[in-house]
Amino acid sequence: MTYSIFTSEHEQFREQLKKFLAEKVTPFILEWEQNREIPRSIWHEMGEMGFLGFCYDPEFGGLGVDDLFRVIMAEEMGMCGCLGFAVSVAVHNDMSTTYINDLGTEEQKQRWLSPCITGKSVCAIAITDPGAGSDVASITTSTEKKGSEYILNGQKTFITNGHYADVIIVAAKTDKSAEPPHRGISLFVVERGAPGLSSRKLEKIGCHASDTAEIFFDDVKLTEQNLLGEEGQGFYALMNNLQLERLILSIEGIGVTQYILDKTITYAKERKAFGKTLSEMQVIRHKIVDMATTIEQNRAFAYSCAARSAKGENIVKEISMLKACVGEMVNRIGYDATEIHGGYGYMAEYEVARLYTDIRSLSIIGGTTEIMKEIIAKKIGL
Ligand SMILES: Cc1cc2nc3c(=O)[nH]c(=O)nc-3n(C[C@H](O)[C@H](O)[C@H](O)COP(=O)(O)OP(=O)(O)OC[C@H]3O[C@@H](n4cnc5c(N)ncnc54)[C@H](O)[C@@H]3O)c2cc1C
Repeated sequence: MTYSIFTSEHEQFREQLKKFLAEKVTPFILEWEQNREIPRSIWHEMGEMGFLGFCYDPEFGGLGVDDLFRVIMAEEMGMCGCLGFAVSVAVHNDMSTTYINDLGTEEQKQRWLSPCITGKSVCAIAITDPGAGSDVASITTSTEKKGSEYILNGQKTFITNGHYADVIIVAAKTDKSAEPPHRGISLFVVERGAPGLSSRKLEKIGCHASDTAEIFFDDVKLTEQNLLGEEGQGFYALMNNLQLERLILSIEGIGVTQYILDKTITYAKERKAFGKTLSEMQVIRHKIVDMATTIEQNRAFAYSCAARSAKGENIVKEISMLKACVGEMVNRIGYDATEIHGGYGYMAEYEVARLYTDIRSLSIIGGTTEIMKEIIAKKIGL
């Protein structure tokens, strides 16, 4: 099915990206998964090809293109067969550098955004504290002001790119007594190598290629140069950008389930039991048809959200609905696809099994399904 939201430039970008992923990513996925690391060289190559920060101003190295290019990127990355890599790049492109672009001064953009566009630097966003994830306003990572310096203390967890990122956008309380508490949150840029900053890589059940880390701040000295935007405005910036984040994660979810569906169709047409292929058995044919239908429904909804969001419409309700639907869909499709693969579907060496553990993350990151439903409930007047 073709969709009219994309122009020939968008489709040209899609073709270039597909070719790049087929040549530079697909052959190396297993190596990256085993090493628990994405090599630096791929970030540099992506930067050279214009696959990083393409929506940002050419003054800082971007291409100044519209947000629908992000959608194409997310869908194709979802279909590359490595969700860990896809999520790492999405965090860099759509979830962290966005704050430098939206809130940064000219000087801050030159210093931190430009190297993220060339791929010299990798970026992360650290919101989640060990004691507060969904409830962002309750984070306790905080700063004390000493003269013109901010002294940062606290801990973050589950941070994508958190161990290898060069630049980390950190949400911290600059006013612990603010009422309501979310008014006390500010955003800072913390550079790798800052004295007092350390991190520990976490072992996950999936998405192994991407590094996910705990980050510790022990009297990290920051100045006003590190503050993004105004003090106390961090929460609003986070809530604003979370819409893009949820849209992109949903589209990656649609991409990865399409990939799983394609693999499942191929397998069902080859595997025989009781003298016929699995695809000839009606119960399995229908299961696969249901998978294809639900992916198509979610894709149509996602594209509609993407087109409206690119026009600047405020569609918090719809994007929350999309994230909740896709978060649940990926898990259902992962379950059905592994079932159709039988015992092979449970073997880590089978792609579908690996992707099943990868997609489990999608109903959690960027806001859980329950939190999406709470947002929707408020929006529909409950
Ligand atoms: C792979 C991965 C990558 C991640 N990357 C990042 C990152 O780069 N940066 C970052 O800052 N964070 C990141 N996270 C953290 C992620 O955003 C949080 O895990 C998520 O927001 C949930 O927060 P929590 O883990 O503290 O769960 P909690 O908030 O403790 O929630 C636990 C459970 O309670 C439910 N719950 C909570 N409140 C309510 C409510 N009001 N009503 C109903 N149910 C509720 C939740 O839905 C969930 O099921 C990542 C997480 C994962 C798994």
